[in-house]
Amino acid sequence: IGERSSIDDGDPVVPLPQSNDRRWSDTSAYARKKVLQFWVQLPNGNWELGKVLSTSGEESVIKLPEGKVLKVISETLVPANPDILDGVDDLMQLSYLNEPAVLYNLEYRYNQDMIYTKAGPVLVAVNPFKEVPLYGSRNIEAYKNRSNGSPHVYAIADTAIREMIRDEVNQSIIISGESGAGKTETAKIAMQYLAALGGGSGIEYEILKTNPILEAFGNAKTLRNDNSSRFGKLIEIHFSETGKISGAKIQTLVQCAEGERSYHIFYQLCAGASPTLREKLNLRSAKEYKYLIQSNCYSINGVDDAELFNAVKEALDIVHVSKEDQESVFAMLAAVLWLGNVSFNIIDNENHVEPEPDESLSTVAKLMGCNINELKLALSKRNMRVGNDTIVQKLTLSQAIDARDALAKSIYACLFDWLVKQINKSLAVGKRRTGRSISILDIYGFESFNKNSFEQFCINYANERLQQHFNRHLFKLEQEEYIQDGIDWTRVDFEDNQNCLGLFEKKPLGLLSLLDEESTFPNGTDLTLANKLKQHLNANSCFRGDRGKAFTVAHYAGEVTYETTGFLEKNRDLLHSDSIQLLSSCSSHLPQAFASSMLIHSEKPIVGPLYKAGGADSQRLSVATKFKGQLFQLMQRLGNTTPHFIRCIKPNNVQSPGLYEQGLVLQQLRCCGVLEVVRISRSGFPTRMSHQKFAQRYGFLLLESIAAKDPLSVSVAILHQFNILPEMYQVGYTKLFFRTGQIGVLEDTRNRTL
Ligand code: ADP
Ligand code: MG
Repeated sequence: IGERSSIDDGDPVVPLPQSNDRRWSDTSAYARKKVLQFWVQLPNGNWELGKVLSTSGEESVIKLPEGKVLKVISETLVPANPDILDGVDDLMQLSYLNEPAVLYNLEYRYNQDMIYTKAGPVLVAVNPFKEVPLYGSRNIEAYKNRSNGSPHVYAIADTAIREMIRDEVNQSIIISGESGAGKTETAKIAMQYLAALGGGSGIEYEILKTNPILEAFGNAKTLRNDNSSRFGKLIEIHFSETGKISGAKIQTLVQCAEGERSYHIFYQLCAGASPTLREKLNLRSAKEYKYLIQSNCYSINGVDDAELFNAVKEALDIVHVSKEDQESVFAMLAAVLWLGNVSFNIIDNENHVEPEPDESLSTVAKLMGCNINELKLALSKRNMRVGNDTIVQKLTLSQAIDARDALAKSIYACLFDWLVKQINKSLAVGKRRTGRSISILDIYGFESFNKNSFEQFCINYANERLQQHFNRHLFKLEQEEYIQDGIDWTRVDFEDNQNCLGLFEKKPLGLLSLLDEESTFPNGTDLTLANKLKQHLNANSCFRGDRGKAFTVAHYAGEVTYETTGFLEKNRDLLHSDSIQLLSSCSSHLPQAFASSMLIHSEKPIVGPLYKAGGADSQRLSVATKFKGQLFQLMQRLGNTTPHFIRCIKPNNVQSPGLYEQGLVLQQLRCCGVLEVVRISRSGFPTRMSHQKFAQRYGFLLLESIAAKDPLSVSVAILHQFNILPEMYQVGYTKLFFRTGQIGVLEDTRNRTL
């Protein structure tokens, strides 16, 4: 193995390929000659390890492990790493960095329950779909005192705390991945570590208790994940000067997609409500509610809804939601369920309807505290403004059903926002805040299915933004900093997705603007939208108009074709102003609060194009514009933080342990650019410190005093004393730059000495 086995950090043994091929693999003739083992791609797409028996002309004869012999084009062989590099804990250490090598390395570790692997500065987490013995207080302790150095979420959280204190800069942990990849679990694991290290005031306990609440109200079972979050979440955890948690703030990002089952809390309420509560809310079993029977799925394996209901109530107590408020919350849930059961009777031959005056209708009115006749009106008529006059339009059956469902959805959405607001009040940082914080972002990753709709459109737009953040941080800022500080650095090309972001955000000719514009046209249809996009956006290289109602966007993670079917409908906020009025007329305080939150919303200075809801004078934001606004807020909060990235990987689509599907993993690795990150980090100098800070921090370790006392001279003396090799660092005008793993010795010595 000899010269190829070098596993020192950062020093690539094989020359880095110059091509921009996203999936590059080093197959240069040079590399091939020196290698004993190769990766051979089988017809099913999987890679197998093989040895070359002979080579003639363009072809090689390869022997696979089970003895099979294969003739392949030599060019297609990908060099494999020597065995001693099996399962290295940082992909940066691989001599040959190619897709099969990375896939194999992750699989090798996964099979031994080592689900975490570093990819340079990024932590890759492969979902084990079973309990792994990596967590709990003993493990937390081991990362805290640094006796365990293997990659872990704990290690990332630990670094975040240390850097927050050392650099006095806010930190963020950005977790992304597909649905079911393990983002929410990972976020909780990170929170546990922060709570363990920064705990003491008791507030950390409250912070942890927000998880069961938000999961109950915001998660649903889907085909891909039994506990799928239907919202994105940023939780900002604040620390005092002494490093103790002082409070937190949660921001959510709505997701429009619906699950296969409805939100957990509905089933929990039906299963767990006490007899008194049942009677008060006129509650039945889940099977009696139309909104819950659509999925025909009432329970989840291994989940006890009644028990979880009690846990949610307890958690609500802990975050100081009063018993009265809790009961109001449950009343709203019951109102939503009963609303779904309201049915309609056709009253004339124009298909106009009125709600059936049955138990469902009267229960809704009672739970919301509204007049039953006003409820009836809101569900069967609509005030339209024509010029200066208001006319009353009767609703047809399908319009009435839409109005009913829109009301139910709005009540639920407002309830969720209201809860987040209550939680934030309870966790609010007092006036004595230091402003130091660690934010954890748990947000759905890039999605690409056979059929992609409005939901994927929004999600992928958000991911495009996050990817820019990622790129900017890892690539652009890095290089700019090297150049600014005058150090020797050969530019490395990176993918810039500004063009694709522009496609979404440009005004007035961008995807979002055009979508909003078309949504305001009464005669707009999915087809007119598609045509409009084709007409205006074809010049952008990231856009392609397809046949019919489809268009394709070239995202950073690959091309996605969207069907515009349903785009306008989903983008319009379908809630009638009559329904908002109904809510504000209710005697219960929650519906009133919901109505005013919606009205305040529309009185705010409006930043985006408007959609006229129902014709009356309530101008409200479109769904896409609201989404964009929330996304901008979120990005703003991340903007001034030092980010730490975790990429979650789902090894199979059946939520089953021990099953590692190469193709599926590869596709996710490509989506998040893990290979590029490693390539760039390995050839760069990711650790840096100003001369001043360096001299200050380690100067006292100098054994011999030196003549010049300026920070640069002190720094250089330290570097010499510790024998840091010249190729491992660069001295810039203002900073020192190090390859990964160089500062460790200094830190250890410092900690021992202090
Ligand atoms: P996402 O938020 O990415 O959609 P989740 O975090 O909800 O995915 O994870 C889906 C499921 O995978 C979890 O319910 C859990 O069963 C399993 N899982 C994820 N991470 C872990 C882990 N670290 N250890 C054990 N199981 C996990
Ligand atoms: Mg989740």
